[in-house]
Amino acid sequence: MRDMPTSPVTPDPATPSAAPPSPVPTRTVTLTGWGRVAPTTADLATPATGPAAAGLLRLAAGRSTPVIPRGLGRSYNNAAQSAGGVVISTAGLNRIVSLDPETGVAVCEAGVSLEQLMVAGLAHGWFVPVSPGTRQVTIGGAIAADVHGKNHHQAGSFASHVAAFDLLLPRGEPVTVTPAGEPGLFWATAGGMGLTGLVTRATIRLKRVESSLVAVDTVKTADIDETMAVLAEHDQRYGYTVAWSDVLATGRALGRSVITSGDFARAADLPPGRRGDPFAFDPRSRIGAPAAFPPGLMNRYSIRLANEAWYRKAPRLRQGELQTINQFFHPLDGIRNWNRVYGPGGFRQYQYVLPFGAEAAVRRSFELVAAHPAPSFVTVLKRFGPGDPGLLSFPAAGWTLALDFPARTPGLGPFLDQLDRLVVDHGGRVYLAKDSRVSPATLEQMYPGLPDFRKLRAELDPRGTMVSDLSRRLGL
Ligand SMILES: Cc1cc2nc3c(=O)[nH]c(=O)nc-3n(C[C@H](O)[C@H](O)[C@H](O)COP(=O)(O)OP(=O)(O)OC[C@H]3O[C@@H](n4cnc5c(N)ncnc54)[C@H](O)[C@@H]3O)c2cc1C
Repeated sequence: MRDMPTSPVTPDPATPSAAPPSPVPTRTVTLTGWGRVAPTTADLATPATGPAAAGLLRLAAGRSTPVIPRGLGRSYNNAAQSAGGVVISTAGLNRIVSLDPETGVAVCEAGVSLEQLMVAGLAHGWFVPVSPGTRQVTIGGAIAADVHGKNHHQAGSFASHVAAFDLLLPRGEPVTVTPAGEPGLFWATAGGMGLTGLVTRATIRLKRVESSLVAVDTVKTADIDETMAVLAEHDQRYGYTVAWSDVLATGRALGRSVITSGDFARAADLPPGRRGDPFAFDPRSRIGAPAAFPPGLMNRYSIRLANEAWYRKAPRLRQGELQTINQFFHPLDGIRNWNRVYGPGGFRQYQYVLPFGAEAAVRRSFELVAAHPAPSFVTVLKRFGPGDPGLLSFPAAGWTLALDFPARTPGLGPFLDQLDRLVVDHGGRVYLAKDSRVSPATLEQMYPGLPDFRKLRAELDPRGTMVSDLSRRLGL
């Protein structure tokens, strides 16, 4: 990392020039998202500078070739791929330009990962303001999906902590966008899934912490009513909280969960051995998943056993346990390529938010999932605070449930359609970064900001250059 004084974000001086920059080499690749479903082939380009990325966009716009940005490919389905087009990877735009140790303001290129930013920030007592369940996410991907974390009820989603970003519009023109200066473009890009252009760098406000350990309280709940009551209560008391639910439990045990809630430990609460190094952080993955898992390993029986064992092992109540960032925020990052465990068919994530007041529908969704042969391995329930103005931003005040299913589960499509109906009927929506099958008509009912988003896109990108497989399917 280069340590430089914090400065406002300005476009690269050389962007764009009348003379075309030297072409960035491309190679033809087959891409999927993290769920490993729906592969398509495109030309992948990895520019190392903003001007080179602008040149690619200009070229694509001139030739009417579809183009879409790609970060670390952690969206679950096909938001970061574009069949037959050009995919611009931000892997070469991975420098932290500046990080002010006094204010915690970081200026980063768009391909910087949250892990990189954590390592750089923790050295000065700063943490990322919002972290999803994996830190293998880029700044560009975090803005484009307006990602949320276990602290959404207090901190909102990622874009609320972005002071400015540099965006290359679909024809390659650079603009610096702030929430106050260009609110329309800012809130179309935050949550806009890469369809307004390519973010090249951003200014992020980090969060002050006294240590890299989280003081965690764990509560095991007996059923869905207790789970919801404890989550509501913990929202008042903790910065971070989430419930891992045993979604296969039925009857009186429906919705039983293990709720973990916490806040970063204060320096004074660290054990003596850690006080000399309060910000220690080891980001390395622990183990790698084997290259291939047999199909069918994740089935109703194995998942029931795993859920049962994990629920039984959890304490009824444990307080003040100090957990590492890896343990508390990113347990799945401990196994590299854990997505392979679902076998060659891959898996589908499904995440909804239902507004407060729709608790009966949340309960109904647990009943539907528990009764269906489709087993969900990782099932997470949490409460969101108010959403932000992002036109396609997912979070909204209410209950959010994330589920994942082996993609080859028989009857999965009609079952998820049934969940969609429940969600739409109660004023909810699904998350585009995870979606792989919602219908365009259903999506329109879920996102009231969609007409404004389409209007802005038509103005910004009349030739429709920015296109992903996701946007094609949904007509975004
Ligand atoms: C294990 C796991 C846990 C997760 N947990 C959460 C969670 O708790 N909360 C949550 O909100 N999400 C979660 N996610 C989803 C993930 O945070 C988002 O999908 C995120 O967008 C992925 O970032 P990425 O860099 O991999 O982007 P990609 O997946 O490569 O791209 C995602 C979207 O961002 C666009 N994009 C990427 N870079 C740019 C750029 N520079 N400019 C413009 N657009 C760009 C792409 O076009 C695409 O539409 C999780 C994913 C995994 C695998």
